[in-house]
This record gives sequence, structure tokens and C-alpha cells, in this order.
Amino acid sequence: MASVVYPTTNLAATEQLNLVRGDGIYVFDDKGNRYIEGMAGLWCTALGYSNSELTQAIATQLDTLPFAHSFGGKTHPALMELAHRLSAMVPVEDAYIFFGNSGSDANDSHFKMLRYYFNAIGKPEKRKIITRERGYHGVTVAAGSLTSLPVNLAHFDAPVEDLNILRTDAPHYYTGRKGNETEAQFVDRILQNLEEMILAEDPDTIAAMIVEPITGASGVIVPPEGYYEKLQALLRKHDILVWADEVICGFGRTGNDFGCTTMGIKPDLMSFAKQLSSAYFPISAAVIPGWMYEAMIEPSNQVGVFGHGFTYSGHPAACAAALKTLEIFERDKVFEHAADVGDYFQALLRETFEDHPLVGEVRGKGLIAALELVSNKTTGASFAKGAAGAAAQKACEENGVILRAVGGNALAFCPPLIITRAEVDDMIARVKTAVDHAYDTLKSQGLI
Ligand code: PMP
Repeated sequence: MASVVYPTTNLAATEQLNLVRGDGIYVFDDKGNRYIEGMAGLWCTALGYSNSELTQAIATQLDTLPFAHSFGGKTHPALMELAHRLSAMVPVEDAYIFFGNSGSDANDSHFKMLRYYFNAIGKPEKRKIITRERGYHGVTVAAGSLTSLPVNLAHFDAPVEDLNILRTDAPHYYTGRKGNETEAQFVDRILQNLEEMILAEDPDTIAAMIVEPITGASGVIVPPEGYYEKLQALLRKHDILVWADEVICGFGRTGNDFGCTTMGIKPDLMSFAKQLSSAYFPISAAVIPGWMYEAMIEPSNQVGVFGHGFTYSGHPAACAAALKTLEIFERDKVFEHAADVGDYFQALLRETFEDHPLVGEVRGKGLIAALELVSNKTTGASFAKGAAGAAAQKACEENGVILRAVGGNALAFCPPLIITRAEVDDMIARVKTAVDHAYDTLKSQGLI
């Protein structure tokens, strides 16, 4: 395993996939095998693997000005242009943007800016953050504590104490429903739980609630109809800010510009990374509204500086990559294409898998989806230790498609936004063969 501490990997594992190049939606390993990258890497390579406009834009920027920081008000053209462009795009009033390098640091930055803001307006007690079960928000100390996946918490003594994090139910009807509860009853029950927690904690001590519009890394959870409308009404009633983590959903993934648009969320704060630069260069953005920025000026005056920033905040090459990505999104109508192919993909996925004996639920929007693999289609019973997810992921790889088992036994799809209908046909046909194969394997192991 070549002296690398591999991230999010079983450190005892010896299995490796050594990828050496990419082209369009495809990647190739060192043995010459071709795979459809059905996960766009880690939900990020929106424009695929061989976009020479992006590499050129980065190279030109590196040739011109390879590094500039933005501490102390220093700036450069790509940074200003990107901030301007992004601010005009996002559904946040008079948006200001703090740039970083990863989804985790965008969330950590929000975590800190919220405290900075509430301290500035004389409400230092308003500091708790609500997160949801099955949420994924990164792995740094604060973002990692907002994450609710057991593997990201266990053995790290996380969530870190004193971060004032509150947890509420995941909005997943299929796995969270009780008895014969309808979707509407499920929503009302989990929101009642939330309100009881808010009242018990005291709303004046709660700053914000973080939500992925569609939860990604724990299984692609699409909340039921009506959930967000009621959730937002509840949060507004208690003066709690809505913080949308758009690290996966942002930029055309769910059939619209943002996951917030698809799910009817009016966010106060937004976090971005991944598709912002089509992952050709690391960059993240923590977006805050103008009224929050205005309030943050005074304390920074008192100390002489807003004391938060990274060496690579607004790195010129990262800004150039993001600017070119946004330009291509707009010029080539990538979101419209993704919405159209996304509708086709969702329909074909349901047609192919809804009656499959291994599939309990097919879910998703646009070009993000998952198959919930179950051992009993009637009861929805699952497999221990992600056995079905792992078997299906492996079978997909053997059939030339890279997918990812998430949240145990959900098989996730998140292909590059440039995928065509013909490529969707090919991907789903291969996955069908793989899921059939996984079903036979699990049966032969006595797990079904
Ligand atoms: N938020 C969400 C919703 C994510 O899916 C991820 C990464 N999968 C992150 C935050 C963290 O991003 P990063 O890995 O770039 O730190």
C-alpha cells in the first residue's frame, strides 16, 4: 500500500485500484481496463476527465501568477471575478464568500463565522448547531462532529465535546418509518421531535441547522414532499438560521442549479466545494448573507483583523478552475443537459430496478441516485455490515462501472454531468448485470 495512510479505507485492506488516466466519463486503470466513473470521482468531476479548457485555464493562471494569498485585503483578478460571479448566482441575499480548499473547511469556516457573528451582535449564547442523523459534512474537527456517520465518529472520540452540536432525525421515510405511518405522518413526527428538542434546549441558544438538500454520502436520501417547507417554517419560528451544505448537490447535480432550488429551500448560509471547479483544483466556498457580513465588520475592527483564513484561500489556480467551470456550465447549458439526462436516468433506473428482488427502494433526483439493497423486499430488512453494498460495488467494478456503496447497503450513482443518454443506457445495463450477480452471490452465501 506504498506508505500512504489511505483516507476512508480499511487500513488492513490490500485491494487497490490504480487509476492512470481519464477521458470523458471514463477512467482507466494500470492494466488498461476502462470504467465508467459512475460516481464522478467522489461526487465531483462534473465536466468529466479530459476537459482541456479547464487544464488550460489552470495552466495559464499558473504561468501568470501561481500564488497569491488574500490576507490583509490583498487580492487578485481571478478571486474578485469568482466572488462576483458566484455571489450573483446563489440564492443568498447580497452574498459574501469565504474561500477555502475543501468541503470540510467550508463547514468549519461557517461554524466559526456563526460564532463570530452572534458574538458581534451580542448573542454569544446562540451557538448550538443542529445536524441530522446520517448527515455528512466532512471530517475536520468541527465538520467531522457535524457528520453523523458512525465510521467518521468511532475511535476518534468524536463528536468533540463542547462543540454544542445537537442531532435530529434523518428524513428518510423508507428506513425511518414506524409501522403503517404515511409519509406525511413520518414528517410530522420527526419535526415534532425536532421542535421538542429545540424547546428543551432553548431556541435562544441555537444558531443554525445544517442540511444537505439531498443527503449524499450516507445513502442519497431524498426527504419526503413537504418536509423542507415545514422544517423551514419551524426554524424561522424559532429564529434558527438555515445552513445548506451544497457540497454534493450544488451546480446542476439534482436537476437545477442548486439542491436548494430542487428541494425548495431558502438558505441563509451555503457551503460549496467539489463541482465548483469540477474537482480540477481544490476549492471551497462558504457563502454568507450581506447582513451577516456587515455585522462582522465591527469586531474585526476592534481586534484589527477577522482572524480566520487559509494560506490557500482564493488560490489563483483554484479560482481560475472555478471560473472556467462556471463559464462552461453556462455556455454549454450543462445544468439543462444534466436535468434532461437526469430525468431519463431516473426513469430508466426505476424501470430497471423497481421490481428487482434485491432492491427495496430506488431514489434520487437529477443525476444523483441510489438503490437500497435489501434481503427482504416486503419488510425492507437489510444486510449486516454492508454485505450487499460491498458485493454490488465489487460486481459493478468487474462490469466496468465504478459506483459506491454508501450508508451500508445503498449503491450510489453520481455520474459526471456531461453523461449522455447512450452512456446512461450502457451504465445501467452493466449495473443490472452486476446487481443480478450480487444477488446470486448473496443467495449462495445464505444471506438471502
Ligand atoms: N459536505 C458534504 C455534503 C460532502 O458530501 C462532503 C464530502 N463528501 C463534505 C462536506 C466534505 O468535503 P471534503 O471531503 O472536500 O472535505
